[in-house]
Amino acid sequence: MPEPVQLLASAVSRWGEDEWSRGAWSLIGVDGTPADRTTVGSPVGTRLRIAGEGTHPTRAGMTHGAHEQGVQAGEWAAARGHRRVVVVGAGIAGLAAAQELRGRGVDVQVWEARDRVGGRAVGVEVGGSTFDLGANWLQQFDENVLARTVEALGLRTVATDFTDPLVLGSPTGGVPRPEGLTRGLRERLAVAAPGTSIGQVVEEWLRDPRPWTAEVVRRFVDAEVVMDTGVPLSSLSARHGFEAGVGEGDRWIVGSYRRLLDHLAEGVDVRLRRPVRRVEVRDDGVLVAGADEEVHDGEVHADAVIVTVPFAVLAAGAVEFVPPLPGGHRDALARLPTGRVEKVVLRLDRRFWPEHAAGYYRVHGPGAGSVSEWLDAAEADGRPTLVGLFAGPWVEELWAGEDEAVARAALGVVTAALGL
Ligand SMILES: Cc1cc2nc3c(=O)[nH]c(=O)nc-3n(C[C@H](O)[C@H](O)[C@H](O)COP(=O)(O)OP(=O)(O)OC[C@H]3O[C@@H](n4cnc5c(N)ncnc54)[C@H](O)[C@@H]3O)c2cc1C
Repeated sequence: MPEPVQLLASAVSRWGEDEWSRGAWSLIGVDGTPADRTTVGSPVGTRLRIAGEGTHPTRAGMTHGAHEQGVQAGEWAAARGHRRVVVVGAGIAGLAAAQELRGRGVDVQVWEARDRVGGRAVGVEVGGSTFDLGANWLQQFDENVLARTVEALGLRTVATDFTDPLVLGSPTGGVPRPEGLTRGLRERLAVAAPGTSIGQVVEEWLRDPRPWTAEVVRRFVDAEVVMDTGVPLSSLSARHGFEAGVGEGDRWIVGSYRRLLDHLAEGVDVRLRRPVRRVEVRDDGVLVAGADEEVHDGEVHADAVIVTVPFAVLAAGAVEFVPPLPGGHRDALARLPTGRVEKVVLRLDRRFWPEHAAGYYRVHGPGAGSVSEWLDAAEADGRPTLVGLFAGPWVEELWAGEDEAVARAALGVVTAALGL
């Protein structure tokens, strides 16, 4: 009997429960279209604009999309002649907006609810190294504006081939995204009637899955769609809910996004622990008010405001807009839900999983719609480390306990799949 694997250190994300994210990233719901993203991101009058990953019509849910939208909002505010701007949220979009404004000589202050910058990108220490608990990869690497910054900073990146994961616990090694299946899914989604969900399309497909089996199709869809969205298939638009991004050139940053974030925040006036509760637009300017108006600096006046908080935070009503956002913005927001994808980083006493050139693994959950994927960080870090992503009903089950219990259960998923 080999010695049991020892978990030396770990980190567990809680994006779903986190008050300042309330989930992973924005998605296109059953009745939504990419135009809804553009609507939310379009200026409200001359003094207010919403930016962030969710406003990008083609690169939502990704850090470079967030950056592009931040830059665009900053350009807009400067072009309107605003001299004093408040940015709400110091994630990548907020930092990008602030840098853009700073570069144009505009006085800019960023109000951030957390005690750190970065938002859904955050590096955490695990066993002496730093790993990402949020965004991990730079997607669409060749055309990714942040990838150019990472190169200029001299950071090391490692490619991941998402098309060739080794499926653990599957007698055949699984179905690593065969060409025909991807085409089959895309073709079916493209002709779906408006208002149809991906779930309905897949249900129809499963009635006649030939030349594959229903199990193969189901697992393929779990890996391709559920893993990339973190919601049930019934919540996603068939036409638009399977968005681009993953599998178009993906590299992760060894040592995490941390140094990139430090660079993006350099010289920016960020006020931490300042949750914004109210954004009031008046004829002569804007008023941005924090949680506690009793405290000094509880509010700030400016010419314009750029709001970059996650859509799920807006949907929860965490920020009151006075006057309320226009109906078009609110309706579009309601069609853009947010999913839940969680991560674990596991530092282990030894490498117990098989070598695989793609550096990527998949384990399907016990029930339909549950899936986990694993990045092998051992070689890049020099120590045995796995970074796991979980989506589907599995997340609710595993994440019910304390962090330590979640990490152990996540490790159990891999060891059980390998029969250890
Ligand atoms: C588990 C996970 C894995 C991911 N993997 C990848 C990946 O590999 N590659 C990739 O490109 N993308 C990935 N993403 C998505 C990526 O992290 C986001 O798209 C991106 O970071 C969003 O940036 P943002 O500035 O739009 O929003 P955020 O980063 O969420 O920034 C918004 C900021 O607003 C703050 N805030 C919220 N409410 C308030 C308030 N009321 N007042 C003041 N501040 C407030 C928040 O604290 C936060 O700092 C991943 C996300 C998750 C959760």
